[in-house]
Amino acid sequence: MRATGGVLHSTREDLGVGRRPAVADLEEHLREWSRPGGPFDPGLLAAHEENEAFPAEACAALDAWGLPGFYVPSRYGGRQESLDEFVALLRRIAARDLTVAVAHGKTFLGGVCVWAAGEEGPAGFLARQVLASEPVAWGLTEPGGGSDLLAGALTAGRHGSGWRLSGRKWPVNNATRGNLMCVLARTEPGGGARGFTVFLIDKRATPQGTVRPLPKMPTHGIRGADISGLEFDEARVPAHALVGSVGGGIELVLKSLQLTRIVCTALSLGAGDHGLALLRRFLTERRLYGRALAELPHARDAAGRAVARQFLAEVVAHTAARAAQQIPEQLSVVSAVAKAFVPSLIQGQLRLIGDLLGARGFLADIEGYGAFAKLERDHQVVPLFDGSTWVNRAGLAAVLPVLRPGRRRTASDAGSPVHWLRTDHALDPLDTDRLRLMAPRDAVLGALPGLVAELAAEEPESDATALARALLAECGGLSEAI
Ligand SMILES: Cc1cc2nc3c(=O)[nH]c(=O)nc-3n(C[C@H](O)[C@H](O)[C@H](O)COP(=O)(O)OP(=O)(O)OC[C@H]3O[C@@H](n4cnc5c(N)ncnc54)[C@H](O)[C@@H]3O)c2cc1C
Repeated sequence: MRATGGVLHSTREDLGVGRRPAVADLEEHLREWSRPGGPFDPGLLAAHEENEAFPAEACAALDAWGLPGFYVPSRYGGRQESLDEFVALLRRIAARDLTVAVAHGKTFLGGVCVWAAGEEGPAGFLARQVLASEPVAWGLTEPGGGSDLLAGALTAGRHGSGWRLSGRKWPVNNATRGNLMCVLARTEPGGGARGFTVFLIDKRATPQGTVRPLPKMPTHGIRGADISGLEFDEARVPAHALVGSVGGGIELVLKSLQLTRIVCTALSLGAGDHGLALLRRFLTERRLYGRALAELPHARDAAGRAVARQFLAEVVAHTAARAAQQIPEQLSVVSAVAKAFVPSLIQGQLRLIGDLLGARGFLADIEGYGAFAKLERDHQVVPLFDGSTWVNRAGLAAVLPVLRPGRRRTASDAGSPVHWLRTDHALDPLDTDRLRLMAPRDAVLGALPGLVAELAAEEPESDATALARALLAECGGLSEAI
């Protein structure tokens, strides 16, 4: 896939993934760690999965390599400068083992509210903790709440200069192993959009017995992860646990989710990489009717569709990660598109790969291919967390007028993705102050008519132009329907 001016590409090298030293360095370490006896040895990770045991060796290796530095913005002493780079790092880990990526990467989600609140929160304290490899959990969900954040019943009331919390957060990743959890709590009895507040809870600083871990939940996938919860019983926390403003919790969480939803796409991209690697090997190794499976037309067709899904997922994720820095005001739309689209696309891709692997996609213990069943189970959670596919689609439905392709913008417009999708474009630094609850417009779709016109002028007869015109016509139809 290639479009005008080098905006859309089709190879990982073109996308810039793998060029940055940190990504290449991590990949080299992951290769080393995956050897027999290493912390990422597939045999060891499969045994942990079987025993529902936490992949502690792999997480310790990532700590030692310095991954926690990428969870902390550079202004607080970390190495997080570009979301695109972080997505590439997490993708590499997910391509080895999705459970490890979920278990370790959770700290990114746990910290994001604090960074987004900036000076109004305990950012300095959290940065020191994360850089010392302390895991951080993010407690939004409650047994009675699920996707409906406004139904949250865990309450925080004033107590002296601090606060007192009661209620449950469940299910939450890393709730038991970590000492820190960012919690959304009801601070107005009537709730509502201004009735919730975020707190950073340090279990070690609460009176004994007032914060209790809930048992680890057995799960269908990511079986080794610490999926549990916390129960607060009149737990007193100090005033400096407050993150952002009192009553600003829902807004802060919704803005933070715009970043974490993009990060979730890294888990899907890594799962796709892993699945395609198994498939590639199978297509050449497996012989049927006297020839390699890769020569069977159906196998070639299905494999081609699986690869095409990966490219498409990659383009959307890459666009979203760069948009986070370049057009953060529009991220409510971009992140919802990415989260609604990429995990579902990869879920379908894994099904295609599973069908091709046949028995080997189903038998857990089979040499070399046993990882597939685990991978497919692990990935099933990605479409549902940080707002399910349907929650994100519902969010987009509410802003459909913004999604109509606008007037004929030319690609030379400042702010057009034609500029900031180029790998040689120096992105703005990630600025969470620019996040907005509602996007004023959508620059990506808005640029489409101009991009198609440019492509048509450059290559009037090409297949790419015909496809681009068809896409624009579809968008026109959608616009009418809206
Ligand atoms: C392994 C695992 C780890 C998790 N880790 C964490 C964590 O670390 N922190 C945390 O806070 N939570 C965590 N969760 C909870 C997760 O985020 C929830 O699954 C999520 O909040 C949705 O809740 P629910 O699955 O109960 O679905 P519900 O909210 O009960 O929704 C039921 C169905 O309705 C659909 N639906 C909901 N709202 C809408 C809508 N507006 N429009 C259309 N359809 C809709 C959903 O897609 C779903 O199909 C975890 C869950 C799991 C399984």
